[in-house]
Amino acid sequence: MKLIQILVRVFGGFLLLIVFGCASNFATSPASQTHISAIIEPLPSANGISLSYQFDQPVDNFSFQHKARGIRKIAWTVQTPNVELIDDAVRSLSGPLNQIAFSIRPENQWFDGDPGLVVLGNGVVFDMDYILVDENSFSTSIFVNAPEATLISNSLDVALSSEPHEIVNPKGFAYLGDSNLVERNLSTIVAAREFEAPLVSLLDSLLVDITNYYANLLSREITHQPKIFLFIEEDQPLGFKGFVNGNIAAIHLQGKPWLEYNDRALNQLANYIQHEAFHMVGGRLENDVDTRQRSVWLTEGAAEYFSRKLNSEGSIDYSVSIQTLFDRCLALIASQPLTKMELPTEARIPPICGEFLVSIVPLLLDDPESLTSIWSEMLKPGSRHGTKLSVSEFYEVVERRGDKRYEGIAALLLNTPGLARWQKIAEALNDVGVEISVTREQLTTAEGTRLIHKLLAQHCRGPRAFRTEGSVLIMITPDCSGGFHDEARVIEIESHPLANVAAWVEQFTLRCSRNESVRFLLQDGSEISPQCSY
Ligand SMILES: [Zn+2]
Repeated sequence: MKLIQILVRVFGGFLLLIVFGCASNFATSPASQTHISAIIEPLPSANGISLSYQFDQPVDNFSFQHKARGIRKIAWTVQTPNVELIDDAVRSLSGPLNQIAFSIRPENQWFDGDPGLVVLGNGVVFDMDYILVDENSFSTSIFVNAPEATLISNSLDVALSSEPHEIVNPKGFAYLGDSNLVERNLSTIVAAREFEAPLVSLLDSLLVDITNYYANLLSREITHQPKIFLFIEEDQPLGFKGFVNGNIAAIHLQGKPWLEYNDRALNQLANYIQHEAFHMVGGRLENDVDTRQRSVWLTEGAAEYFSRKLNSEGSIDYSVSIQTLFDRCLALIASQPLTKMELPTEARIPPICGEFLVSIVPLLLDDPESLTSIWSEMLKPGSRHGTKLSVSEFYEVVERRGDKRYEGIAALLLNTPGLARWQKIAEALNDVGVEISVTREQLTTAEGTRLIHKLLAQHCRGPRAFRTEGSVLIMITPDCSGGFHDEARVIEIESHPLANVAAWVEQFTLRCSRNESVRFLLQDGSEISPQCSY
């Protein structure tokens, strides 16, 4: 324990030196540059933070350094009259001001996507990057004013006093919360009192073991030990929510069974940690060429692949055949190109399709360990690729190792619409001796499912899903404005039994192309006819 504390101190000191060194060597900003003090305080209700920008000379507009992809719109409220916040820019409608203030409060503990800020027990975890102001026009210092609270990030862990504390190297997530509720294990920060020590040390050693496994596998040195911020809310149905940014995961456990070591729940959580720990150790795609939409299949696919590999190290066989990955991906995307899916958010790009794409690399190269060595080559600090992974570099390394077909096969799945491509992918794999097949029925069923999903996406807002029970399709459609019930049980589409997919897909497609309605017959004898157009 002492050694760790010493290392943290030495390392912390090292970081400070670098920062001061940079400041004196590269202080090129003009003397007239406006300085901003950003002051963070917890809201009295502990459900968010207040953020006040104070300028050393009056300012009537500024923009943020990092695009927040709609996060500010959801969580930020302007507290200064006559000031508007639009996308990543702030503007005063009544001339220059000395101060502009916001409150940041996530809606309903918003965990989907990348929330920028979550409430965790009596504290908050917030993304410091989103607070930084455009550095070309301003210099910014961030202070935290929260007497008796604890502030923890990658590079600091301090008990705050009544003096505002300056965050010298604001990067990534920070936890700000009640000192009395915070307990630290090696890599788990517990932001609640209710936890049983054995559960915490179980999760803690799990994270450390998994992290070490990936680090060894990929020959990667861990510069920032991954951390979990853990919070539990007992009076909730069993479940968990989590999000990850950089090396920090915030995990919100719900329900009492967590304290009773429910096996199934713990397994699900372990799988989640395995997947996310890969992102923490295995690098991010950081470059200007790849949008998230273009690259998410590679990062998610690799996380799934390596997480399954880790699972397979144990006594139970978790391996899955390439045919199974192929079938599952086909069923989910049918004729849609993976990078241009019509579903509402990019997050819906199925990870299983990414896993299929990365899993064919070892088959094409005829080397089961090739993906591991490719990934570690791409992460090597001194290499040409540095740690800035990109999709193009991935293709390049695969090609250099002896396969020129990979990019073409990937393009079929990523950019090419239509069902015919599945046969081409199967043929390319058959050519290298990988047995894989695709049936006509499989393609038709997948296309039918896609059409129904598309119709639901057009007509319903809010969460939606469907499942089949025998030859009945159950659509779960709360908030649906298209005339569906909360749960519609469809037995027939366009006068054809649901099970006879080939028969109704043709009519469904025809009617939609003519902008007509599609007839669904329900189990109770009623009908619904949502309008269909594309
Ligand atoms: Zn992921």
